[in-house]
Amino acid sequence: NKQMVLKNYVKGFPKESDIILKTSIIKLKVPDDSNDAVVVKNLYLSCDPYMRGRMSETEGSYIDSFTPGSPIIGYGVARVLDSSHPNFKTGDLIWGLTGWEEYSLIKSTKGVFKIQHTNVPLSYYTGILGMPGMTAYAGFYELCLPKKGETVFVSAASGAVGQLVGQFAKLMGCYVVGSAGSKYKVDLLKNKFGFDDAFNYKEESDFNATLKRYFPNGIDIYFENVGGKMLDAVLLNMNLHGRIAVCGMISQYNLEEPEGVQNLFCLITKRIRMEGFLVFDYYHLYPKFLETVLPLIEEGKITYVEDIAEGLESGPSALIGLFSGRNVGKQVVVVARE
Ligand code: NDP
Repeated sequence: NKQMVLKNYVKGFPKESDIILKTSIIKLKVPDDSNDAVVVKNLYLSCDPYMRGRMSETEGSYIDSFTPGSPIIGYGVARVLDSSHPNFKTGDLIWGLTGWEEYSLIKSTKGVFKIQHTNVPLSYYTGILGMPGMTAYAGFYELCLPKKGETVFVSAASGAVGQLVGQFAKLMGCYVVGSAGSKYKVDLLKNKFGFDDAFNYKEESDFNATLKRYFPNGIDIYFENVGGKMLDAVLLNMNLHGRIAVCGMISQYNLEEPEGVQNLFCLITKRIRMEGFLVFDYYHLYPKFLETVLPLIEEGKITYVEDIAEGLESGPSALIGLFSGRNVGKQVVVVARE
């Protein structure tokens, strides 16, 4: 069983060599004394920014650190080879937390979802139909409470979550602008995902002036993915009673000292509601989410861009590439296709 394991806890910007290949023996049978376990063959693995936090030795986080010497854990799509849980049968397809390895024993099926709809690419269950899709859905509809005609700004807008937030906002009749880190991504935002406008934040020196240019009448909703200087500039440009869904702050994940935010007083003067959230608290909405999003995909009203890396061995560079923006769209690693 080929595995990708964390070599040691990481400080600062992660390197490919922080995750190394190991082989082990695995029994492709669930333990005799289990009643809630599955053994799976991993097909697609998801690279997600929150995994950086698990590579550090931290205490008191919402999720435990990885164990050095053990496989990386992440979301994935897999086929069940053996099961001791009555709801999962040999041959079923599932998505949920699994190991970065060819085969995994998943000791509890809590948080494992059976895949019922296979008329879409299976890899979508790492992205649009999985955790990032739920994040965009819960963050945008539940926290931002959007109304037709409102102005919406999305950062890291071409990524797994952002590309969907922008499309949901357009379907809602909002005016949407996204920021991303290259000309190619800016073109995607405008021409593929239907954002009204977009800019390359790496070419802007004064984010406050940039946002004033794109939002002369201010921002009603900010879907926050990056934090730092962008958040500070957004606060200055928010409208009265604006909403900020704090989804992530990727610009801070590799810093040993997080940057301070200067303009929080705007929360008071503009009566802004800024709320953090974790997608894990919204999985009860998954059936409703599928009912909404599957038809939108089938009718071509929503599109999704993936960045596919081939082979388990490509995992470390694919994961680390998220932090320099090398991925274009949802970063997926293919372990096996069948
Ligand atoms: P993406 O697919 O968007 O990949 C990460 C992107 O972030 C990169 O492609 C890059 O794009 C951008 N980026 C990297 N470093 C920086 C930086 N220093 N400053 C600005 N942008 C940067 O990731 P996801 O869509 O999966 O995740 C987006 C955000 O949502 C993350 O912050 C993540 O932690 C968060 N998240 C939160 C969840 C929750 O439950 N709250 C659940 C899932 C995700 P570019 O080229 O544009 O710079």
